[in-house]
Amino acid sequence: MITKTDAVVLKSMKFRGTSKIVTFYTRRYGKVKGVAKGAREMKSKFGASLEPMTLVSLVLYKKEQRELQLISQCDILHQYKNVHSDMEKMSAALSVVELLNKLTHEEEENSLLFALVLETLEAVDHATRNAVNVLLAFELRLCSLFGFALSLDRCAACGRALEGLEGTGVVLQLSKGAVYCPLCSGTIPVFDPERLLSARRSPHGIPQAAERAGNMRLSMPALHILRRLASARLESVPTLEYHEGVGNELQATLRLYLRYHFEEFKPLRSLEMFH
Ligand SMILES: [Zn+2]
Repeated sequence: MITKTDAVVLKSMKFRGTSKIVTFYTRRYGKVKGVAKGAREMKSKFGASLEPMTLVSLVLYKKEQRELQLISQCDILHQYKNVHSDMEKMSAALSVVELLNKLTHEEEENSLLFALVLETLEAVDHATRNAVNVLLAFELRLCSLFGFALSLDRCAACGRALEGLEGTGVVLQLSKGAVYCPLCSGTIPVFDPERLLSARRSPHGIPQAAERAGNMRLSMPALHILRRLASARLESVPTLEYHEGVGNELQATLRLYLRYHFEEFKPLRSLEMFH
């Protein structure tokens, strides 16, 4: 079957003499992998269309049950040009495509996710500062699309509104994405996120204590930024400002949350560039 769909290039690698294997996130089929024959020849018809983070119109010879499809044609619809000239934007955009590649399965169509990806890349491309905020906001929306949105409006125990709440901090329960206010979180056991991150990298697996707890502390400034990242329009999140410490806390929190809910999730290489 010959089929056509819009797609974002996630990954491109050399294959045999002059070809490439390219992974796309497509509007119609979700993640798809294909072979672009002759893509590494000087005068290849594919040109620059197979570069990661490019929006393309893709024509495939598609066969059911085949792992690698044959890419017949690939034309650039849009290049996110600013992304390539700015380290922070590049890192944020690469993290988006890397997350998609890791967290989605092949041939699972999700048009809402496809639309979110385009909106995210556009917002990163146009960010005048803090492109990392777009990535964090993308991660929050990704969690919502996969059915485990963070509940950032009210305390999960007493129902108190979290907006404008003051105090030393709240507790986030990773399993439910629930937040407990300072009054209700006093007796909940918590762990230090950095310790869990390093512990999970160890060959001995997850320490029982950390797994049992599944609760982490979140500072008030981090909570309030998270709430705004979740609710503000993507193109406006780069204007959110916060201290570096809060930024590290936000990144660690979302990484842990994603890791808790996606088994496939490993540390992102592009994200490491921020540190
Ligand atoms: Zn409460």
